[in-house]
Amino acid sequence: MYMPARYQEKKADGTVRCLLCPQVCLLQENETGLCHTRKNLNGTLYTMAYGNPCSVSMDPIEKKPLFHFHPGENILSLATAGCNFHCANCQNWQISQASPEELPHYRLTPHEIIDMALSYHTGLIAFTYTEPTVFYEYMYDIAVLAHEKEMKTVMVSNGYINREPLLDLCPYLDAANIDLKCFDNASYKQLTSGNLHPVLRTLKTLKENNIWLEITSLLIPGYNDSAEMIGKMCAWLVENGFSDTPLHFSRFFPTYRLTDRPATPEKSLLQAKMIAEHAGIKYVYIGNLPHLRGENTFCPHCNNLLVERQGFNVVTNRLTGGKCNVCGEKIAGVWE
Ligand code: SF4
Repeated sequence: MYMPARYQEKKADGTVRCLLCPQVCLLQENETGLCHTRKNLNGTLYTMAYGNPCSVSMDPIEKKPLFHFHPGENILSLATAGCNFHCANCQNWQISQASPEELPHYRLTPHEIIDMALSYHTGLIAFTYTEPTVFYEYMYDIAVLAHEKEMKTVMVSNGYINREPLLDLCPYLDAANIDLKCFDNASYKQLTSGNLHPVLRTLKTLKENNIWLEITSLLIPGYNDSAEMIGKMCAWLVENGFSDTPLHFSRFFPTYRLTDRPATPEKSLLQAKMIAEHAGIKYVYIGNLPHLRGENTFCPHCNNLLVERQGFNVVTNRLTGGKCNVCGEKIAGVWE
């Protein structure tokens, strides 16, 4: 279903500029944006990503990953096709690098998504798998309805969204996990086709608007796993008030167009965790390497094991009213 897109600037010559994300595509008649979801038809921008999700599933919320937001609960998770990045290592490239019309999809209105979540007895909905920014209008309408029903919404995103649409969404958004892919603009551009600065602005905007935030950094050997780059990233996070924001270092496996390098060595992940903790980040996790048990939550004050996880499953949760059950330290998060 084509819907008029939000955040567009129509030009006198029939071209139209999309203002949704920092790619700011200028589209000729019949041209589609970099994200494969927005098209100029007769001088008006339309989204092709509305009501036609290609993926709808129930997931543990730990899979997003969100570790400090309703741990152990299931969340209805959905995506349409499309993405405004073209990451060489995309794990979901079959759906992210396609147009919604090219792929088999469901037909689900925002009301039907809400009803589906309720039928699965969850009050949580995640926009995930691809890049939710490119199905913004669908996400927004679902999020507004979700809040009317006192449900909560989560965006799992590359953070590549302009400030105005993000601010408009914030009142209807409860949590986000943002990918911070590296901390060097040239590498960012090379890896993703986007720039670093807008992602940092998104992190700040989400924090300023009290959206619960967690950050994921996939460590790719030779791209972003140097001690220097991780040190710079963690220093920026601490200087900008993200010490309490959980940081997930995740293991890379060769995939898609990035098969010329090995999986991330265990020692790189451990080094990154050490650098982050030394910089002052309180909750640092290691993902995609189960035997390290890097998914557990510890009290940053007394080091008591608070939330024990095996993969995406919560085995034990010892938090009491959002506090450490031993020393009473308040643990940042949304626990109940
Ligand atoms: S949302 Fe899509 S069409 Fe719009 S600027 Fe970004 S990549 Fe281009």
